Amino acid sequence: MKAIVFSEDGEIASQMVNYLKGKAEVIASTLTEEKEKCIRAGAEKLYLLSGIAEPENISEAISEIKNATGADYIFIGSTANGRDIAGILSAKEDMKPISEITSFEINDGKATVTRFLYGGKAVSTEETSATLYVYAPGISESARAESDTPTETIQLKEPSVKPESEEPKTSGGVDLEKAKIIVSVGRGLGSKEGLGIAEELAKKVNGEIAGSRPVCLDYHWLSEDRQVGLSGKKVKPKVYIALGISGQIQHIAGIRGAKTVIAINKDKSAPIFEECDYGIVGDLFQIVPKLISAL
Ligand SMILES: Cc1cc2nc3c(=O)[nH]c(=O)nc-3n(C[C@H](O)[C@H](O)[C@H](O)COP(=O)(O)OP(=O)(O)OC[C@H]3O[C@@H](n4cnc5c(N)ncnc54)[C@H](O)[C@@H]3O)c2cc1C
Repeated sequence: MKAIVFSEDGEIASQMVNYLKGKAEVIASTLTEEKEKCIRAGAEKLYLLSGIAEPENISEAISEIKNATGADYIFIGSTANGRDIAGILSAKEDMKPISEITSFEINDGKATVTRFLYGGKAVSTEETSATLYVYAPGISESARAESDTPTETIQLKEPSVKPESEEPKTSGGVDLEKAKIIVSVGRGLGSKEGLGIAEELAKKVNGEIAGSRPVCLDYHWLSEDRQVGLSGKKVKPKVYIALGISGQIQHIAGIRGAKTVIAINKDKSAPIFEECDYGIVGDLFQIVPKLISAL
């Protein structure tokens, strides 16, 4: 079995290359600037895509790689661009897609996957004939092989739509998928000023700060790369401390891998209390300072 793995994030590509090792002959692809994160992932070959990258021209390049290598399967990392690329490829290559897989096994030519359904409400394990998969970041640790993978560069075609100007995305440069302790904040924080208390707690426990979608995407109290959940990062820390997060299913979809979840919320009927190991009902602005001084 031959598989192409693509993500525009070299680290996410590298995780899947490592995951598929021993199951398939893996051909990796990422953007040229992500080369270093992927070159020692242990793929048979690495295709680097160079130029202005958009889902349209990336999907064309992946089709080229498929034709050149005769790969049976394509795996695309689940990022905002990745999901667009998979959609285009599915139509273009007439490949049946499966989204958000968290595991992939193949026996006697039959694939079995685990994936989230209904926006993260359910997890399904199923046999499938699909050949195009969108995989969840964090599916595996990334590994480093002894030597560099042979590479080939593909020049991306000029995109049909070009941005007039670009604004750099705000990024905290954080690797939440690897964090052992996470202090995560929700709308219950009330304002950006409330962050101070969460940051103090994070410092005490040597943790990383993360947030729910409104906090990262709507209010920009935190950078987008700190969003946890279905459309954010899937994290697996030893301890996840949720402050003022209601626990909607789309948030929970990102913390299923957490070992211990501790929640503080002033509403005793908040759904987070169904999902946590330890829950404290109360105002976070009263409880967190007590926790900090106790620590
Ligand atoms: C397709 C789709 C994808 C999505 N993806 C994501 C995702 O990846 N990540 C994500 O997080 N969401 C995601 N969402 C949004 C999700 O449905 C929720 O809207 C979101 O998680 C709610 O964020 P929150 O818990 O911060 O806010 P709220 O739901 O508003 O909850 C705030 C909580 O804070 C509590 N609170 C208020 N004040 C205090 C206080 N002083 N002390 C203690 N507690 C307090 C309240 O009781 C409440 O429970 C997605 C939605 C859709 C439709």
